[in-house]
Amino acid sequence: MIFRRTKILATLGPATDKPGVLDGILDAGVNVVRINFSHGEASEHLSRVAAVRAYAKKNNTYIGILMDLQGPKIRISSFKDGKIQLNEGDSFTLDAEMDAEAGDQHSIGISYKTLPNEVKPDNLLVLDDGKIVLKVTSVDGAKIHTVVIQAGPLSNKKGINLKGGGLSASALTEKDKKDILVAAEADADYVALSFPVHADDVRETKKLLAAAGSRAGVISKIERAEALVEGVIEEIIEESAGVMVARGDLGVEIGDPQLPAQQKRLIQMARSQNKVVITATQMLESMISNPIPTRAEVFDVANAVLDGTDAVMLSAETAAGDYPVNAVKTMVEVCIEAEKNPTAAVSRHRLNEEFKDIDETIALSAMYAANHLGVKVVASLTDSGKTALWMSRISSNIAIFAMSENDRTLSTVTLYRGVYPCSMGKQSASDWDKVNEAVVDALIENEVVENGDLVVLTKGMHKFSTGGTNLMKILRVGEGDY
Ligand code: PGA
Ligand code: MN
Repeated sequence: MIFRRTKILATLGPATDKPGVLDGILDAGVNVVRINFSHGEASEHLSRVAAVRAYAKKNNTYIGILMDLQGPKIRISSFKDGKIQLNEGDSFTLDAEMDAEAGDQHSIGISYKTLPNEVKPDNLLVLDDGKIVLKVTSVDGAKIHTVVIQAGPLSNKKGINLKGGGLSASALTEKDKKDILVAAEADADYVALSFPVHADDVRETKKLLAAAGSRAGVISKIERAEALVEGVIEEIIEESAGVMVARGDLGVEIGDPQLPAQQKRLIQMARSQNKVVITATQMLESMISNPIPTRAEVFDVANAVLDGTDAVMLSAETAAGDYPVNAVKTMVEVCIEAEKNPTAAVSRHRLNEEFKDIDETIALSAMYAANHLGVKVVASLTDSGKTALWMSRISSNIAIFAMSENDRTLSTVTLYRGVYPCSMGKQSASDWDKVNEAVVDALIENEVVENGDLVVLTKGMHKFSTGGTNLMKILRVGEGDY
C-alpha cells in the first residue's frame, strides 16, 4: 500500500459538475474539496457538498470540505463592450462614481468606492493578477487618473491590487457574513478567510461561525502584504486552524520574486506553531487547457512538498479546466515521488523546546519511538484529532492513523500531512478492555498492517475524552495480549 502523505485540495466548479468528473477526481485521490464562494449561488454550493458527502459515504471514506469566502476582492466594473485593449502610455481613469456597466476606452467604474482616498500619485495598481499595471498620476475626487505601464486586453470585473499592499478594506464583507451561514448549513470542516490583515479578522470570523453553530476551522489566506509583517503573521496563524499561501493575490501585492521565500517561511511558521498549511494557486495552471503539465509546474508541486506543505491546491485546473482528472493524477504522482526524497522525512520540530502539555509530549514521544524502532504505523485514538496533528508536525515516513468514532474529526484530519482517518465505530470505542484489539483489527481490515508488524498506539486513560492522550503502547500484530 502506498501512503501519499501530502494532501490534495481540489476546487469544485462547472468542470466537476459534468457527469463522472467529481467521482473521477475523488477516485484519483482528492482529500479535501474547496467550494469557492466567489462564483455561484448557495444552492449550487450546497448541492456540490451533498454530492461529495454521498461519494464519501458510498465509498466508506472521508473527504474534507473547505468553503472559501470571497473577501473584499477589489474589482473594476464592466465595459459597455465587455472588453477593451489598453496600450502603453494610454491615460486611463478608475472612477468610483461611474455606472457599473458604462466602462469604455478611457474609464471604468470600481466596486470599492473608497479606493480614491487610499491611493497616491506614483502608486502602482495591478489588474487581472498582474497582467495590467497602471501608475497613478493624480486623484481628483472620485477619479483616479492613471497611465498604462503594462498594456494588454482588459475585460469585465477583473481584480485590482495595490502593489505593496495597504488598502484598508475590512476582511469580512456583508456577502462573507451571509456565506458563513451557508458554510454552517453545509457543516463545512474548514472555512477559508480571504485577505485577513490581522488576527482580529480571524477572531471575528470564528465568532460568526460559532454564532451560526459551525465548528469549522478557519484557514487564513495569506494574500496581503500587511499580513506578512513580523508579529502580525504569528498572531494570525495562532488564531487560525491553518493558513493558505494564497500565491495569486499575494504575488501581485509583493511581487512574484518574493513569493518562494515567503512560501517557505509561511510553511515553516505554520508547522512550528502546530497549524496546517495549504500551498495554492497556479500549481498546474497550464493543465487548464493541456493534458500534461509543464516541467516547471512539476517542480513547483514537488518543491511545495519538500517545503513541508500539508496540502497542494488545484483551482481552475479542476473547477473549470479541460483535464480535471489528469490534473489530480499528476499531483498524486508528483507528491509521491517528491516524498521519496530523504529531506522530506527530516525534522527538527520542537527539538530544542520544552513541552507544556502531556498530550503533545506523548504525541512527539510516539513519533520518536516509531522512528527509532523502525515502526511504520502510529495509531492515535483521538476525539479531537489534536494528537494526530501534533504527530504530523514532525516530518517523517511514518503513517499516522487517526482512530476515532467521531466522523467530524475524521473528515477534519483529511488535511493533515501524513494522517489517515480510520473509523473505529461506536461499539469498539466504548469497550475499554478491547480498544487496543479493535485498533489493530481496524488497521488489519484496512490492509495497513499484518502479523508481525509493530504499531505504536497512543490513547487517553479517559478513553476518548478530548485532549486526554497520556499513554503510549507498542504492540506487535498477532503476538501476545494487546
Ligand atoms: P483566490 O485565492 O483564488 O480566492 O483569489 C487564492 C490566491 O489568491 O492565490
Ligand atoms: Mn486570492
